[in-house]
Amino acid sequence: MNNIMDGKLASQAVKMNLKKKIEFENLTPSLTVIQVGDNKASNIYIKNKKNACDEVGIKCNIIKFPETISEELVINEINRLNNDISVNGIIVQLPLPSNFNEGVIINEIDPIKDVDGLTYQNVGNLVLENEALISCTPLGVMELLKQYNVKLEGKNVCIVGRSNLVGKPLIQLFLQKNATVSICHSKSLDIKKYTKMADILVVAAGHPNLITKDMVKEGAVVIDVGINKENNVLCGDVDFKHVSEKASLITPVPGGVGPMTVACLLKNVVKAYLHQNK
Ligand code: NAP
Repeated sequence: MNNIMDGKLASQAVKMNLKKKIEFENLTPSLTVIQVGDNKASNIYIKNKKNACDEVGIKCNIIKFPETISEELVINEINRLNNDISVNGIIVQLPLPSNFNEGVIINEIDPIKDVDGLTYQNVGNLVLENEALISCTPLGVMELLKQYNVKLEGKNVCIVGRSNLVGKPLIQLFLQKNATVSICHSKSLDIKKYTKMADILVVAAGHPNLITKDMVKEGAVVIDVGINKENNVLCGDVDFKHVSEKASLITPVPGGVGPMTVACLLKNVVKAYLHQNK
């Protein structure tokens, strides 16, 4: 049985739906990405976002500042974009250079244009189960589970990693689906105790081979969010070769959660556009 969750295919379905909606309803959504410096990985991520926008008909502008720019000038630019009605979504590509305060910069974005779902207002609304723009990777994980008809109600979910970007929003999203959630992190004493109980295991730690076969329940659904490079080869946080012998469904890296993240960013841009133009 093929137990691979194909994120490329699943993301294509999301993108095709968006493309149709944009064409049939004559929508004109637009995204602006702000980049500070010339981080190599960021260059690749931004290029992927731009290509995906082009695919579905979202206008994508990239504003690239040198690393030497001041925080104040970046904030001025965000404020200009906040006030520009032709801009529906704004992203500040992370990480920012170390002299920048990411929290301050991100919270300058108008929450209705915060398509990465990282402002206080959107995070708070997610927790309160109000309408919100939600972080794209957690949304991508949930969309993938939905497309593969994975039932969540009453299931034991274990999330490894508690970042603001991935782990914490996932707690809320799984709770909303009536799953029972446990969350592990670098100070957890016995991760295996929790991963072994999980019907659905999501790993977002940034450590190759953190999750081995003995840590996984027979038949579990395993979602590997990690992106690492080992000997110049991309890999996730899960020992894919061996864990896939035990999992009922498992995501590969690359080709799993990554493409879903980009597809859900596009979804957020269209959602922001519709909200701003209702
Ligand atoms: P992060 O901010 O560095 O957070 C990592 C989390 O993992 C932290 O909560 C940390 O615990 C925990 N952790 C680290 N080592 C651990 C260990 N040995 N055992 C248990 N927990 C451990 O990273 P992130 O932004 O969430 O990203 C995580 C991974 O996902 C990275 O590889 C990143 O590249 C990838 N990622 C992929 C996508 C995608 O689209 N596929 C999107 C975003 C991120 P503490 O809190 O105790 O430090």
